[in-house]
Amino acid sequence: MSRFFSGKYSLLTPYTPGEQPKDMKYVKLNTNESPYPPSKGVYEAVRKEAERLHLYSDPECTELTQKIANRYGVCADQVLVTNGSDEILNFAFMAFCDSNRGIAFADITYGFYSVFAELNNIKYKIIPLKDDFTIDLSDYYELEENIVIANPNAPTGIALPRDEIEKLVRSNPNRVVIVDEAYVDFGAESCVPLVEKYDNLLVTMTFSKSRSMAGGRIGFGIGSKELICDLNTIKYSTNPYNVNRLSQIAGSRAIDDDEYYMNNAKKIIKTREYTKKNLEALGFEVLSSSANFLFAKSDKINGEELYLKLKQRGVLVRHFTKPKIADFNRITIGTREQMDVLLTQIKAILEGEK
Ligand code: PMP
Repeated sequence: MSRFFSGKYSLLTPYTPGEQPKDMKYVKLNTNESPYPPSKGVYEAVRKEAERLHLYSDPECTELTQKIANRYGVCADQVLVTNGSDEILNFAFMAFCDSNRGIAFADITYGFYSVFAELNNIKYKIIPLKDDFTIDLSDYYELEENIVIANPNAPTGIALPRDEIEKLVRSNPNRVVIVDEAYVDFGAESCVPLVEKYDNLLVTMTFSKSRSMAGGRIGFGIGSKELICDLNTIKYSTNPYNVNRLSQIAGSRAIDDDEYYMNNAKKIIKTREYTKKNLEALGFEVLSSSANFLFAKSDKINGEELYLKLKQRGVLVRHFTKPKIADFNRITIGTREQMDVLLTQIKAILEGEK
């Protein structure tokens, strides 16, 4: 830390992204990326758009916003596109929370929520999940705080049905409820159909997972036009050109090629269930997942040891050190071939092969 670093940030513990090692080529199952490349339309559009990189991007993301609105059956003024969904989450924390209005979220969930809260000097309430890693919704009724829920949750993969979330949105009419649907395309029910009915609901999504564009950094939020207007105030006060030209065109073409991406999501769901069955056959406890990853624990080897041994063998998974989940690893679903490599390596490790 330099002697110039503001005191207001000096205690901040930044978010730790999943490792992106460069020492060798891994079977990379640690950051929930899609194993499938972007569609052809995306490549071609990006190449052409590169000729216009000397010009600023459209601050309103007009074309992409309209396409997202059409795709999800809402109006363009109910959509805000951002630089990854991390950005819209941060904007929402900035816009709707402060030192008086805190935010509540689960103890086991996306690690960035507490970082955004600390960054913005927001008090947060941590609500423990039940022992089986499900949410007890009654903990979220009539809260003092705003709420953020990842659905499906990360890193567990467990999803709540839409009508359960609706109950909690309804029971907190004067609080903003943010539903983070980064993984929704892998089998959960989206809350977007509820945004017409509830002006306190913001749904966030990303192109990083089902739309194969983690490196393109596109996220978006859907909510009432008033919530979106507030988020725009934050955006235009921080970075009006937050989504670059190449990403805007890539996002637009990805929506045009929706069928390709939704088919890939179906393939990933199939591979997930195949992997789950095989892990269970090896004695793993595997949580029921509606995401593009599995959260699994072995009865024969602890979580950290398995993670390290897999890494030595060229397979990267994600291990978290929080005591409640230290026995588990989060395994991204890749192609069937990648998952077969994982399963073979796990078998070899359990059989004590060198
Ligand atoms: N929400 C959840 C639950 C996530 O796991 C992630 C990915 N790390 C994000 C949001 C943010 O993803 P991105 O910024 O790539 O859209």
